Amino acid sequence: APSAARPHVVLLASPDAGHLIPLGELARRLVEHHGFAATLVTFSSLSDPQALPSGLPASVGIAALPGVQTDDLPADAFRGTVLVEIIRRSIPSLRTLLLSISSTTPIAALVPDFLCFTALPLAAELGVPAYIFCTTSMNFLYLMYRLVELHDDASPGEYRDLPEPLEMPGRLSLSRADLPEGYRSSKAPIYARLLEVGRPYRLADGFLANTFHEMEPGTVEAFKQVADRGAFPPVFPVGPLVRSNSEEEAAAGASPLLEWLDRQPTKSVVYVSFGSGGALSVEQTAELAIGLEASGHRFLWVVRMPSLDGLSHSFRAGGDGDDPLAWLPEGFVQRTEGRGLAVAGWAPQVRVLSHPATAAFVSHCGWNSTLESAVAGVPMVAWPLHAEQTMNALLLDESLGVALRPRAREDGGVVASEEVAAAVKELMEGKNGRAVLRRAEKLQQAAARALSPEGSSRRALEDVAAKWKAALIGERQP
Ligand code: UDP
Repeated sequence: APSAARPHVVLLASPDAGHLIPLGELARRLVEHHGFAATLVTFSSLSDPQALPSGLPASVGIAALPGVQTDDLPADAFRGTVLVEIIRRSIPSLRTLLLSISSTTPIAALVPDFLCFTALPLAAELGVPAYIFCTTSMNFLYLMYRLVELHDDASPGEYRDLPEPLEMPGRLSLSRADLPEGYRSSKAPIYARLLEVGRPYRLADGFLANTFHEMEPGTVEAFKQVADRGAFPPVFPVGPLVRSNSEEEAAAGASPLLEWLDRQPTKSVVYVSFGSGGALSVEQTAELAIGLEASGHRFLWVVRMPSLDGLSHSFRAGGDGDDPLAWLPEGFVQRTEGRGLAVAGWAPQVRVLSHPATAAFVSHCGWNSTLESAVAGVPMVAWPLHAEQTMNALLLDESLGVALRPRAREDGGVVASEEVAAAVKELMEGKNGRAVLRRAEKLQQAAARALSPEGSSRRALEDVAAKWKAALIGERQP
């Protein structure tokens, strides 16, 4: 095959939709625009077959590492902890794979996503540059950088809390409660683990961030200065890398859900989804339903099984095969028939967001969903559940002004139906809603520009590709 002579990039994706999808897109671009061959390596344990990228060009190979045992991990372990552990245990088989690839083609770079940092020593062993792909916001990467800096440079060996408020680049100010759980207190056991994740980041040769200049301008600039000081590897904004509409189309074909959308008026439907793992509490599910009904607007809601512990999370394990629609309030489906569609489990999100009938997105603000919304120019109702989603919601609401944010009740964090209805109505009919829409359309244009041939993200990836190629040539010289 002609691609055999091309230098090879090996990408390493944690087993979640949120990692597989953008890394697949990065692999495609490296092959189509930058002259590489690419292999996307995945981990069998936990992989969600629905999430595997489809429509990848033949020159992107997919290699699944054999499954590893995880029975010994506590049942209530953080999702991230489990992923990191699966990856750690898969390093020996990854090593075998890399050695086998490098026996036929030169490896130009290893690109692990930001949870696969345990692969960095392997890159060093093989003498291959390692560029970590950050599948969430650059703001999150900045938080990680600050945490390690605070602990290892400012006060070595001493666990200290991040300042409150934490001033982020771009005039974003974060209170303790806005931070992801593990970052709120240096006394929490998870804090030490986060340091273990963040420390090796400094050993990477660079970072590829799934963002673009206009999305996080302050943070892009801040990292340039940090890299100039040598305090952190260079971070290249190369996004927004999201699945393309045609790719989803080819994979999914006809769908009753899209046929339903086809029958709705232009810009009339509110799309509601909380990501690949989001689960609302039973009470919250009911409040959302009543709020959507009360808004009077059309909606398409991807309903997932509720969590039964009274809390809303972004990941819920097990229980597949149950019917989430059975948890909707009595008579809700009948009362909203024709105007609302509730579907169980999964929707082809990129197709839904780019459909002319879609007007707004009620979202948990997972970073991929956030980027997909930006690319489609769809304003959001920001409803973060977990992890760094609150930071993302603040960026969308306060910095970019492309989202509205319903307030949760003080007791227990439930968003009441009145809040849901008010946010949806404001976004669909209000003066403020119109301003939010205009800004979302501006951001959409900026996203398209970033990836155009002369755009900032396309050029950033070209710079990185040139570095990788130059290093290979340097190696071949005596
Ligand atoms: N997704 C989808 N259909 C669904 C739910 C999710 O296609 O019903 C896709 C979505 O388009 C996005 C990814 O799964 O690309 C979810 O990633 P995100 O970072 O938004 O959230 P996470 O699932 O990691 O919390």
